Amino acid sequence: MGPPSGALLAVFGVATRVHRVRRRFVTSADDVVPPELPTLPPGSEFKFLEPRLHEIFAPLNEEDIPRVERFAEHRSFPDGAMLFEVGKPGAGMYVVLSGRVTFFRRDAFGRSIPIWERGPRHFLAEVGQISGADSFVDVRAIGPVEALLVPPEALRALMVAEIELGERILRALTLRRLGLVALGYGGPALIGSAAHPRMRALREFLVRSGHPHEVLDPDTDPDAAGLLARHQARADDLPLVICPDGSVLKNPGDVALARYLNVLPNTIRERGYDVVVVGAGPAGLSTAVYGASEGLSVLVVDGRGFGGQAGASARIDNYLGFPSGVTGQDLTGRAFTQAQKFGAEFAMPAVVTGLSCRPGTSSRPSISLHLEDGRTVSARTLVIASGARYRRPEIPNLARFEGRGVSYWASPIEARVCRGKDVVLVGGGNSAGQAAVFLSGHAARVLMLVRGPSLSGTMSRYLVDRLAATQNIQVHPDSELTRLEADDRGELAAVRWKNHRTGVEDEAPVRQVFLFVGAEPATEWLHGCDVALDAKGFVKTGSELNLEDLVRAGRRNVPRSLETSVAGVFAVGDVRCGSVKRVGAAIGEGAAVVAQLHAYLAQLAEQAEAEPPPAQLSAAGQR
Ligand SMILES: Cc1cc2nc3c(=O)[nH]c(=O)nc-3n(C[C@H](O)[C@H](O)[C@H](O)COP(=O)(O)OP(=O)(O)OC[C@H]3O[C@@H](n4cnc5c(N)ncnc54)[C@H](O)[C@@H]3O)c2cc1C
Repeated sequence: MGPPSGALLAVFGVATRVHRVRRRFVTSADDVVPPELPTLPPGSEFKFLEPRLHEIFAPLNEEDIPRVERFAEHRSFPDGAMLFEVGKPGAGMYVVLSGRVTFFRRDAFGRSIPIWERGPRHFLAEVGQISGADSFVDVRAIGPVEALLVPPEALRALMVAEIELGERILRALTLRRLGLVALGYGGPALIGSAAHPRMRALREFLVRSGHPHEVLDPDTDPDAAGLLARHQARADDLPLVICPDGSVLKNPGDVALARYLNVLPNTIRERGYDVVVVGAGPAGLSTAVYGASEGLSVLVVDGRGFGGQAGASARIDNYLGFPSGVTGQDLTGRAFTQAQKFGAEFAMPAVVTGLSCRPGTSSRPSISLHLEDGRTVSARTLVIASGARYRRPEIPNLARFEGRGVSYWASPIEARVCRGKDVVLVGGGNSAGQAAVFLSGHAARVLMLVRGPSLSGTMSRYLVDRLAATQNIQVHPDSELTRLEADDRGELAAVRWKNHRTGVEDEAPVRQVFLFVGAEPATEWLHGCDVALDAKGFVKTGSELNLEDLVRAGRRNVPRSLETSVAGVFAVGDVRCGSVKRVGAAIGEGAAVVAQLHAYLAQLAEQAEAEPPPAQLSAAGQR
């Protein structure tokens, strides 16, 4: 939201302990503070915000006000009135015309702490206000306040119509959210050890969803220990989650937490959509951006959050236009915001469990999706973008160590845990290679187990060369993981593997194992509709479909290249049989499918025009 300037930076180095911030910055449009910038500690993940403070917190110019006014309603607030309230949906973006407002954050101890003040020409919002998300802070009028309110829909329209101003505002709102994440303002306090597997899973989920939070470790923080005592928390209640509204959740699942906190947008409108997209990975997000920007009403449903597999990638080096790489979270987070800007709606977390299809007409939705929570969504077309899930090798005890030493991705959170230690990484594909390079910057050694005799058949040349040039990566060809062993406390303590050519077994005292052994298509929810799959369960589209598939689905016309055996049902990205399993390919297919959706919908409309309405039919019958 408004400019915490120095406050923001003062706590960057202690992003998880924000309640030390006590300075208060009073500014107005005329005294925009050029703060003294404290130096951020080396390696701070929020350092990139430092040179952007003015961009994030600058007020609007005098000449911007009438441009905003076209999209806004005038609002007056008496002294003490609330413009935003923590945990309640925001009304949109406010622009202060006269008077001042104070921002307050609430902490884990139930305190309401003033953090900064803003005055005329400042715009009050963060990126969640594009979709009317819940507020992270309280904002109260000090004395009478006159303001412009730009509701979410109008804010999206402003961003599309006023290109330069819209870009400036959107960039500021996005960076403000990152600032809130850096500060932990407005989110829950997670109390427990940072190394606890459930703590890591919750943090990973909140970080991926761009939701602020703070971690309080009772081993090092007496206040946190006091909170545990006050709530009589036992070991299996940890992490204890204290929400901004004061409620306490004991060791919640990440989906349960997401639902409780409204971490992500999750509403469905009754009248249905032109297109429902299942999956908010790169393919689904791309469909949403192109579909919504080209005038289709779009709903994206995802069982977890946005990002898909790509969201777990610490660094994507081969996506066009990012010569120095981009994290999967950054790329997909931007796409999520972009899709919302164009009006795409999201329902997350919401797992799709079933599908019914009937012949479509231009006016009647032909597809119904059934969600795990009992809701139903109807749409005229469906895009299957549900991607793939990690494969699990056959090793005894594997499930016991998942999230407690065994990971299927390597993000900065995992990297922190294995700093200075040896790790084992299993896999020989590109994602294994990228993870090995990433982890080599943190771990003492990366022992890479590869089933085949070399990497050249399974990994891109540039990555093979990079692995060879990295001294602390050791590649073990012809090798397979055989055992995971626990110590007295049940934690992963040693890893065994076997060279299947020589029969020699090896063991290393390793506490972190990374598995990158491929993925299976997420297509189990497609039952109930005759969508043809290949032998491995991937969705067949276009020329992959044979006559038998088409006859079984009762089709009489040739499917489009991304269309499945069922008319109006399309598939894109990793879930599609024959797809390339790359971010670029998934995004390209998401863009391409939108043209095919338009063509299908136009065809339905033509059919409707050709068929006389029911009243005419009966009149013709009487003649
Ligand atoms: C660690 C890692 C690193 C990678 N690095 C690279 C890279 O550097 N470059 C590159 O080009 N590619 C990379 N890839 C591959 C790339 O991420 C995938 O090709 C891409 O994410 C596929 O996108 P998608 O949208 O088709 O599917 P996914 O990314 O798999 O997304 C599918 C989404 O569908 C949701 N879903 C599934 N079933 C349901 C259901 N029943 N109901 C609701 N939602 C559901 C899932 O929750 C998920 O969010 C990497 C993959 C991984 C795992």
